[in-house]
Amino acid sequence: MKTHQLLQNEIAALKKENREYRESHSRFETVFENSRLGNKIISAELKILQVNPAMVTLLGYDNKEEIIGSKIFDYAPDYCHKDWKVLQERLWQKATPSFSLETCLMKRDGTLIWCQVTSILFPDHGETLGYTIIEDVTEKYYLKLQKEGFISIASHELKTPVTVLRANTQLIERKMKIGGLITADLVKFCTVTAKNVLKLNHLVDDLLNSTRIDRGELELHKTIFILADVIKGCCTHIRLEGKYKITNTGENLVQVYADQFKIDQVLVNLVNNAVKYAPESLEIIINVEKIKGFIKVTVSDRGEGIEPEHIAKLFDRYYRTNSANRASGLGLGLYISKEIVTKHGGDIGADSVVGKGSNFWFTLPD
Ligand code: ADP
Repeated sequence: MKTHQLLQNEIAALKKENREYRESHSRFETVFENSRLGNKIISAELKILQVNPAMVTLLGYDNKEEIIGSKIFDYAPDYCHKDWKVLQERLWQKATPSFSLETCLMKRDGTLIWCQVTSILFPDHGETLGYTIIEDVTEKYYLKLQKEGFISIASHELKTPVTVLRANTQLIERKMKIGGLITADLVKFCTVTAKNVLKLNHLVDDLLNSTRIDRGELELHKTIFILADVIKGCCTHIRLEGKYKITNTGENLVQVYADQFKIDQVLVNLVNNAVKYAPESLEIIINVEKIKGFIKVTVSDRGEGIEPEHIAKLFDRYYRTNSANRASGLGLGLYISKEIVTKHGGDIGADSVVGKGSNFWFTLPD
């Protein structure tokens, strides 16, 4: 009787164990199959034993069978083999329980992807298998590269006016000590100083505005004002210099309901760009017209113009054409302008003919 009871208990325990095993297996399978990250299981010989659908997509294949049986090296470009070797070595030879690194894989169509790879070892039916999770971090990788490049450009751009300012203030100080007289030299040093302070201010403004846009903090404070008044009042720094003529044409009395400060910022950016990138065009025309429920403002120069392939990208963050390298800038001005205009419900664009000049325009709802 006792033996019978013992057997009954043992059977119940086995049943429970079996149920728990099936549940645990099903849990693992659900996680493995549905993970949005690429998952694979490999043998000690590095052969791929199982992959999930995300892994199939990541490598650009249609079904698991095309991948099972191959080795991950088959998908790694030659120069990344060493990374995978490090991973394998650490795991299998040094028996580190888990290891993570960033490396490359090549999709079926030859596209390179950057991956964050994490591998762990686990026992399975007396064998040790490897479980690898692969995350496609290509976008993050290029964003990181872009950010690093941007920081180096931004530092360089900020350093240039600061160096000029340091030299100028030293010269001014020296001149003032000598006689205290206002000489032509002194006036020149002060003008250069003022110009560079303005440049610095512009760069810092661009950086701050770009961060505000990132955080969704670009706020509009709208009022009703006469657009021509803002156009006439903008860019005093350029008007005062006297080299460039800014001509206002078109509708003079049009009123808009917009953020006056930010519209001024857009105008200053477009006019500054005309001076920077079309320096030989001594007249800059700002035209205002009414078109189908919108007010269109166009800033035109007669400079070198822009190649058609660049036009659509000019408003992207950090975008600069190759020929822009001779002028200072961060590639943020048009991006910020676009954000401002779009937030007003308007549109922004450029038309240009190489050798003839460019028209940068934006619209605001009437
Ligand atoms: P930044 O001036 O800091 O480079 P912007 O976003 O204001 O940034 O301009 C982006 C790019 O557009 C410039 O680098 C330049 O290549 C091009 N661009 C802008 N305005 C003009 C223009 N009037 N003529 C020719 N190229 C221009």
